[in-house]
Amino acid sequence: MKLYCLGIEGTAHSFGAGVVTSDGEVLSNEWDMLKPVQGGIHPREASRHHSELGPRIIKNAVEKAGINFEEVDIIAFSRGPGLGPCLRTTATIARTLSLKLEVPLIDVNHCVAHIEIGCLESSFKDPVTVYVSGGNTQVIAFAGGRFRTFGETLDIAIGNMLDVLGRELGMDFPGGPIIEKEAKKGNEYHNLPYSVKGMDLSYSGMLTAAKRLLSEGVAIPDICYSVQETSFGMLAEISERALAHTKKNELLLTGGVARNDRLTEILSGVAERHEVIFHRVSPSLAGDQGAMIAWNGILLYKAGHQVEVENSHVLPKWRTDDQDILWR
Ligand code: AMP
Ligand code: MG
Repeated sequence: MKLYCLGIEGTAHSFGAGVVTSDGEVLSNEWDMLKPVQGGIHPREASRHHSELGPRIIKNAVEKAGINFEEVDIIAFSRGPGLGPCLRTTATIARTLSLKLEVPLIDVNHCVAHIEIGCLESSFKDPVTVYVSGGNTQVIAFAGGRFRTFGETLDIAIGNMLDVLGRELGMDFPGGPIIEKEAKKGNEYHNLPYSVKGMDLSYSGMLTAAKRLLSEGVAIPDICYSVQETSFGMLAEISERALAHTKKNELLLTGGVARNDRLTEILSGVAERHEVIFHRVSPSLAGDQGAMIAWNGILLYKAGHQVEVENSHVLPKWRTDDQDILWR
């Protein structure tokens, strides 16, 4: 029997809902992102965005999937990691739906969901995953029953670094895609801190140095070009080491920053050198969205897992390697 899972995502500034079947068909994937008028994301404002727009987004997702609410078999939600107020709003919506529709509730780790939707799309079995987004920067691989973080940022996430820099450069939010466009026009490389420590990396020094370049009158395209080359080069280095160490033969690029063509080019070069297959998750499944939560909900449900409403408190600091991966 085919099952329909409604997945609900709301860990940060995006709210999403998607319907995925037990066969892995993505039937719908609706979402909306809060754009801060100025400054960064305020957790309370983001959670208000989710509670105001959430019900409509969910209704649209169910309608676009061509089913009605009575046909939903499972409700999955992103339990963490993320911003507390956003997680709580999302979890409350999910619990309410689960109780009202009398269907199982499944708690999903947001980072693991990014990996598994990439595996679904690429048919990869066991990749090294580069997960780059507004809130996360991790190189992950499966070992000993869990997704292990081989390397990660020690301070800010790469997407956050790009967005903050974008704001300094007078760009709209999010800055990431605009920086990519500007970088294409740049050709003069300026030195920036290349900060790799063992398998980890750090981006805050680069942000400060890039701001200094601006005050020194360096052209914006050259700043963007230098930032991309340095920050992506750092990621390439730790991805290479993860491949060499784990001897896996697939490299997966996922998360919102996976939309970047230059990063894709650099990592596909890494894959070629190591003779492994490369896949970049397609833009509609790369960022934060509900389909990935729904698909992980299916995997967990098939492995016999569900969560009781009374035990479903959110986990803002839930680490990728803090979950037994029952379905692998
Ligand atoms: P997520 O947190 O997964 O929803 O992804 C959002 C992040 O992806 C933001 O920080 C964006 O700036 C970033 N992003 C989106 N498109 C691009 C792009 N083309 N290049 C670099 N960063 C991007
Ligand atoms: Mg994410």
